[in-house]
Amino acid sequence: MRTAIIGGGAAGFFLAVNLKEMMPELEVTIFERGQRVLRKVEVSGGGRCNCTNTFQGVSDLSQVYPRGHRLLKRLFHVFDYRDAYEWFERHGVPLVVQDDECVFPRAQDSHSIIDCFLSLARRYGVKIVTGRRITSLNDLSDYDNVVITTGGAPSTSSAQGPLSAVHPPSSPSSSLLPYLQNCGHEIVPPVPSLFSFTINNARLQALQGLVTEHTTVYLPGTKFRAEGPLLITHWGLSGPAILKLSSYAARHLADAGCRAPLGINWLSINETDVQTLLNEASARQSQKLITTYNPFGLPQRLWTFLVEEGLSSSREGLGLRWSELGKKDANRLVNTMTNYTCQIEGRAPFKDEFVTCGGVSLSSVNPSTLESRTVPHLYFAGEVLDIDGITGGFNFQAAWTTAYTVAAAIKARR
Ligand SMILES: Cc1cc2nc3c(=O)[nH]c(=O)nc-3n(C[C@H](O)[C@H](O)[C@H](O)COP(=O)(O)OP(=O)(O)OC[C@H]3O[C@@H](n4cnc5c(N)ncnc54)[C@H](O)[C@@H]3O)c2cc1C
Repeated sequence: MRTAIIGGGAAGFFLAVNLKEMMPELEVTIFERGQRVLRKVEVSGGGRCNCTNTFQGVSDLSQVYPRGHRLLKRLFHVFDYRDAYEWFERHGVPLVVQDDECVFPRAQDSHSIIDCFLSLARRYGVKIVTGRRITSLNDLSDYDNVVITTGGAPSTSSAQGPLSAVHPPSSPSSSLLPYLQNCGHEIVPPVPSLFSFTINNARLQALQGLVTEHTTVYLPGTKFRAEGPLLITHWGLSGPAILKLSSYAARHLADAGCRAPLGINWLSINETDVQTLLNEASARQSQKLITTYNPFGLPQRLWTFLVEEGLSSSREGLGLRWSELGKKDANRLVNTMTNYTCQIEGRAPFKDEFVTCGGVSLSSVNPSTLESRTVPHLYFAGEVLDIDGITGGFNFQAAWTTAYTVAAAIKARR
């Protein structure tokens, strides 16, 4: 029995190693288009590889997997984060859990995972062919099973803006997706997810480096909103709240050319509570300038910026004391704190993490085995499927789970 794996990334290697552990006699070959394998694993998590998550803070999988949560819920019965954690520790990669529930190798180095995969692949006799781009299944007709683990890549039309320089879009000839479509698979057009926003506001950008701990960002007039820390950068906005929003609204933003208004509630509290805090400040610190006394615990420079934004049209200007804050100005300030609006001008040039929303539609695969519904003995695992998560180790977990599912399915039909 011979199995070909197309793509030497996270899912491809996890699959190869598990196949050999389940069926040592199986001949397994990985075909990788690049000269090096596991390149994304290497750069992941800032070089530390956030390889999974404890899921302790996750009450609803759709919050961490905007696409694919139903299928993953089912597949987690086969192989979930606890299995992944145990798997890596059992294979000589001790892990640690951070306070935010993200899981990393204890060595804080992605090479510990790469070394684990490479040494197991060598020990088990997995054949690794690099520099070999597979563009159709015709060359692989003498394999009993073929698994596609080619990862994700945005299509040319959707990858615009500076990010396309960082992640060159695949040309149609380099992607297997058109071929798979011709074989009868439904392809959900790939678009980027998990990116930060370019906001061309020099005054905001001047606050680069400032972080707010608990902010809500949203796209006005849509259901898309996300909460979490927000980071102001020299190109605009980033941080967990923005990355999450870019994931939830990935397709919406792609359709809009990544230009849209962005709403910010800096403290994630409602207008009434902001008003109450303003009233208290007026009563307690009446003689202090509004710009100098900051009742919300925001970074002082951000508070000054927000007061300037909120009261810029005020008759009295910025020299107001708390005692002089009238109803109109207070309303303006409440609005700036809870409904600050700016314009997303595109995807930002740098990325913390980056994944593809879209790929092979889940309706094209058997949900128990991930085998193609149209081409027998053809399977899919990893980001090539229309599954993607937010940051926090969820994308690798999807790769481990789908790869393990395919290994178990190939074993079961032997
Ligand atoms: C900078 C960055 C940081 C990230 N950090 C994290 C993180 O910390 N935690 C997390 O959970 N996720 C992270 N991700 C996402 C994670 O890396 C991916 O979700 C994961 O690698 C997907 O695994 P995969 O095997 O499906 O695809 P990949 O790892 O992308 O592997 C696919 C492989 O297939 C090869 N290939 C493609 N087409 C062909 C072809 N036609 N023929 C032969 N070979 C082909 C590619 O060259 C590649 O090596 C990060 C992503 C990026 C870009």
